[in-house]
Order: sequence, then structure tokens, then C-alpha cells
Amino acid sequence: MAETPRPTHPLSVAEAWSVTADRAADTTFFFDFDGVLSPVTDDPEASQPVAAVPGVLEQLAASVRRVAIVSARPVSFLRSRFASLERVDLYGLYGLEVWHEGEVVTEPAALPWIPAMADLTERARAELPDAVLVEFKRLSVALHWRTAPQLAPVVERWGHEQAERLGLKIQGGRMVVELKPPVDQDKGMVITEGVRDAGCAWYFGDDMSDIKAFDALRAREAVDPAFFGVAVAVANPETGADVSNAADLTLESPDAVTAFLTDGLRRIQAQ
Ligand SMILES: [Mg+2]
Repeated sequence: MAETPRPTHPLSVAEAWSVTADRAADTTFFFDFDGVLSPVTDDPEASQPVAAVPGVLEQLAASVRRVAIVSARPVSFLRSRFASLERVDLYGLYGLEVWHEGEVVTEPAALPWIPAMADLTERARAELPDAVLVEFKRLSVALHWRTAPQLAPVVERWGHEQAERLGLKIQGGRMVVELKPPVDQDKGMVITEGVRDAGCAWYFGDDMSDIKAFDALRAREAVDPAFFGVAVAVANPETGADVSNAADLTLESPDAVTAFLTDGLRRIQAQ
């Protein structure tokens, strides 16, 4: 049977699934975690994937070439939430960590920064107001103001000062600012590498750092007219329309993502 021709953007959901079903063996699905597979919570340690997500991802992984989660969380956190998944690959800390064959592989260039990140965590806890939640992630430090939105300017100013003082990179997100080592790695680079030999790829994201992943799909389409990329935004009140505007499709919530995948899986399996 001839392959369905690649539709041009913007595309319908039916078209996207139809092309994907034709190329299932050559398709990779990438997912952000927070706000995509899991509702965002005040305490980042408390967040859990939507109940049906692990089962859906494992089935999807059995039906397509590869499924991967690409998150700002450490791999250790992702493992704690997806311990039962055997087929799903995990990229932590924007790809500075990868879960591969049963162990965490860390980008060597980032390792020397662990002591500086530990020091920065202590300094943040001492200098920032108590309502700011300081999350130590080994290779990065996240400063959350979700429970005290009025502190946004204070946290952002402090973060930029520290980034400048220590030569760190800074990544803004949903009510969070994150300080990272000056090592070239982001979600866009993970996707660029991950789609190098794929015929089709989907990326689901909800935050500013996910736009780089969408861009990586577009860049791949530009150099390979046969490649089919689908960028899916998950709506939220905090990133405004920026993420949706960069995407092909927008879903309303992590629950909607789960329902969408369940439907898509049925279409792939029916092909
Ligand atoms: Mg997210």
C-alpha cells in the first residue's frame, strides 16, 4: 500500500494519526513530564502522572519505534514515577542525564558543576524568602514561586545575578526559574539527535523550553521533506499562547493528553 502523503501544516488530528499509523515502525513519541503527563502541583515533589499514563505509554512503546520522556526533572525522579516502564527511555535535566540500559549516564561536561549547584542551593535557601521553593537537582537548581506569585521579580532578579556571578545558564518556565551549568544541552538538542534517523516524530510540551523541541521537528522537516513532525501543546494559563502558537495541535490538559493517546493508539493498532 502506498504511504499517505505528508500533509502540510496546519493538519487535522485524523491526518496526523493516519500518517503516523502508516509509519508506526519508524515513529518516535517524545513527552515532557510536568504539565503534560502530570498536572502541575504546588509542591513539585508531590506530582504524579495521570493514572492511565504508564499503561498508555507502555502500549504505545510496543506499537511504535520508540517512546521517550524529556524532562527538566532528574532521571532519579522520573524513575520513581515510571519504575514499571521497561520500554520507555528517560532524558532528565534537559538531556544532561539519560537512563540507558538500567543506569543513569550523565553528560561528563556537567559533572564538575555538582558542588557549585549544591552551594547555590544553600545560598538560595538562605537568601530568598521562605515561600520560594528551592529544588536541588544535582546538576541544576530550580527556584519555584508557585505558592507566592508576587515574588516573581525578586526570584528572577536573584537568579540572573547568580547566573552572571557563576557563569550559569538560566531557563525560565511556569512559575519557576532554573539555573544550569553552561553546558550546551537543551530539549531541542535531544530531539535533533533523537529524530536523526526517524521518519516521523511527535513532541508534547507545555512550557517555554519545549518550544526548542518543536523547532527541532521543524528543522528536521526542512532538511528532509519525507520526515513528518507533529508538535502538540498542552494548554495552561501561565505560558499564555506562546507554546500553542508554536504547535500544530493544542490539548487542554494532561487528562486530555491521555485520552488523545488512547484514541491514537487504537488507530495505530487498527492499521
Ligand atoms: Mg512541562
